[in-house]
Amino acid sequence: MSDLNDKAKLFLDLLLSSSNAVVFTGAGISTESGIPDYRSPGTGLWEKMDQSVVSLDGFVEDPTRYYDYSLELYPIRKSAKPNIAHHMLAELENRDLIKGVITQNVDGLHQDAGSGEVHELHGSLRQAVCMDCSVLQLMDEAMERVIAGQNPPLCNECGGVLKPNAVFFGEALPQVPWERSLGLSRSADLFIAIGSSLLVSPANALPDIAIRNGSKIIVLNDTPTPFDGEAEIVVREKIGKFSSSVMSILP
Ligand SMILES: [Zn+2]
Repeated sequence: MSDLNDKAKLFLDLLLSSSNAVVFTGAGISTESGIPDYRSPGTGLWEKMDQSVVSLDGFVEDPTRYYDYSLELYPIRKSAKPNIAHHMLAELENRDLIKGVITQNVDGLHQDAGSGEVHELHGSLRQAVCMDCSVLQLMDEAMERVIAGQNPPLCNECGGVLKPNAVFFGEALPQVPWERSLGLSRSADLFIAIGSSLLVSPANALPDIAIRNGSKIIVLNDTPTPFDGEAEIVVREKIGKFSSSVMSILP
């Protein structure tokens, strides 16, 4: 109890004394919104799913397999709402206490919560991109067509196959969010990692870059990370519970 409150107070003190705080989020921030963590041992969906379904080669070979899975998973994503941790980050940005959020998530929940400066390293499942003409369309509209029986859904402009605008295995990270994330990490004086094991390359490079440029680091994650030893605070509590505690003491 007091440990949680002490850490929340220390978290806030570090934020208030920083001038370039940046937040990095992974799947763990969205599990309390009901979005499954694809990589979690035991519960990870990718253990049940053939990974080629979400690889570029596999998608190009047969996009219908991906959309067959989507019919099952889309309703979960569609009904997911941001939780208190997403809301806390939007509020911290609103108060100019953080410069922005770098995320590995593709669920769009940071934006739903009201965060404006969001850099999506792995793209977004909210959009579909045409494999032929690269036009972006809303995934909601594409999924309506899949639900109505059009699999794969096709581009309104040219009739090409629509692919989710999230990074599949075998694809490079989108350049713009990556460059901006690098810039934010280089100039950070406080790097807050939330809900990520910080193991997956190249996203694990960002806390490393921040630390080498003199930043402090805070880690909120339910399992150990390679950066725990260097962190000012390590929080193993539920992220929502800790966020509530921080929100309750915001000045
Ligand atoms: Zn097209």
